[in-house]
Amino acid sequence: MTRASLKLVLVSTPIGCLGSGEGGGVELTLCSMLKGLLARGHELIVIAPEGSQLPEGCSGVMMQEVNGSDQQSWQHSDPDAPMTIPFDGVLPRLWEKALAFDDSVDAVINFAYDWLPFWLTPRVDARLFHMVSMGSVGRVMQNIIGDIAQWDQRRLAFHTFRQAEDFSLPEKPVVVGNGFDLSHYNFNLKQYGPIGWAGRVAPEKGLEDAAVVAAELQEPLWVWGKIADQSYADAIEATVPKGTIEWRGFLPTCQLQKELGFCRALLNTPKWNEAYGNVIVEAMACGVPVVAYDRGGPGELIDSGITGLLVKPDDLDELKAAVQRAHEIDRKACRDWVERFASNDVLAEKVEAWICSGLDG
Ligand code: UDP
Repeated sequence: MTRASLKLVLVSTPIGCLGSGEGGGVELTLCSMLKGLLARGHELIVIAPEGSQLPEGCSGVMMQEVNGSDQQSWQHSDPDAPMTIPFDGVLPRLWEKALAFDDSVDAVINFAYDWLPFWLTPRVDARLFHMVSMGSVGRVMQNIIGDIAQWDQRRLAFHTFRQAEDFSLPEKPVVVGNGFDLSHYNFNLKQYGPIGWAGRVAPEKGLEDAAVVAAELQEPLWVWGKIADQSYADAIEATVPKGTIEWRGFLPTCQLQKELGFCRALLNTPKWNEAYGNVIVEAMACGVPVVAYDRGGPGELIDSGITGLLVKPDDLDELKAAVQRAHEIDRKACRDWVERFASNDVLAEKVEAWICSGLDG
């Protein structure tokens, strides 16, 4: 049974505008939550950096845009870095707008992995909830998330249990996974296509390992995603034979899924405690098995031997051998898993339960 409609404010990431890809998987999470909650009859307001685009089907949602400079991403800062807000920063402006709603809304959901909204939480009347989008990537963030957990852990949700393990939490975490609009991903039975890799091209994502395996197999590796660090991308390209990496660019979902669906396997090789791994589920939605390091979220999303293959992290021999066995995975089982566990509706149901329980008492 759904409870009465909630009025919710969703505050986007202060890194890039929605639709730019700069915000990585957070953009997809916000859009999926938006669609899922809308379908369940909730009233939603989005506050986001200027230039943001709402996904199709959300034209009835009120969006307030705010200008200002981006925050620096925590995952690319020193682990002991202090919290900094640039002159003209968009982050405080997003929160000024969000807090102006005060108690005219039931709750405010934060998508920023940033100190300010967490710090505000016990200090304002507005009921702030946080969709924590990464594991621990800096002491400042680890501490403030731990502080909020001590104060009232019901205000925090995580994508996976493995991600949540990075934080000091007094209670079992609320884990909501993530959601995908399944009508955007076509199931593809093709079993003998190329191998692929998708994600932000940045050191924590470990593209170099997938490139080495492709080079050893003497096959091209199709790569999709925003190049967040050009010198890192150039360095990888220089280590493998010319033509090994086929840069396919950052594509909108409709095109991405079309190309991704041709792959016989997607490689996922994170070097950090990946909070979830959207691209894994997107590949599975197209029927593409994923060969991934058993590290962070991927280890929780893939049922090894059934919906993909998990290998020892950083073990290139195991990775290569698993890629050669990817055809053994039933592509239909991959799609079925996504339909069961990662639709927008499944996500929205979990989020609704999370917010309602946090508002109780
Ligand atoms: N993505 C995309 N087009 C591309 C490549 C990637 O839209 O060509 C999106 C993908 O759908 C996913 C995000 O980029 O939502 C990457 O998210 P992921 O969780 O894999 O990693 P993050 O960047 O959040 O660390």
